[in-house]
Amino acid sequence: MKMLPKQPTVKASADNFIGDAWYDALIRGEEPSRIRVSVVRFAPGARNAWHSHAVGQTVHVTEGVGLIQSRGEKPVEIRPGETVHTPPGEWHWHGAAPERFMTHLAMWEASAEGKEADWGEQVSDPEYAAAAQEASR
Ligand code: MN
Repeated sequence: MKMLPKQPTVKASADNFIGDAWYDALIRGEEPSRIRVSVVRFAPGARNAWHSHAVGQTVHVTEGVGLIQSRGEKPVEIRPGETVHTPPGEWHWHGAAPERFMTHLAMWEASAEGKEADWGEQVSDPEYAAAAQEASR
């Protein structure tokens, strides 16, 4: 076995996030593994843009209260201990609730061609507020 070196905590890019989110990359698999795991910490109100993962993604909430929504579906409030899978190519976003921090583990894989995600438009303030209002609990 080997202890993996601690990587610096990185601020998520404003190209793909609104608000403050920081992540720690825990593992980036070496071929034939293509696994990626990060701890992502969202400040209240922070969320990522609409995106999809080439090989899908699983998130596991460890702290706080968050929101996740897939295209065309009702937003869902997520809490510690809950695990959500989005299949390959399914457009969605995730982030913190308006007045709560949220931390989740994000687990995904690169495709054989090395593709990880496609990014789209940001979740606007009105879109986010509406999602927070109608999130099913
Ligand atoms: Mn995602």
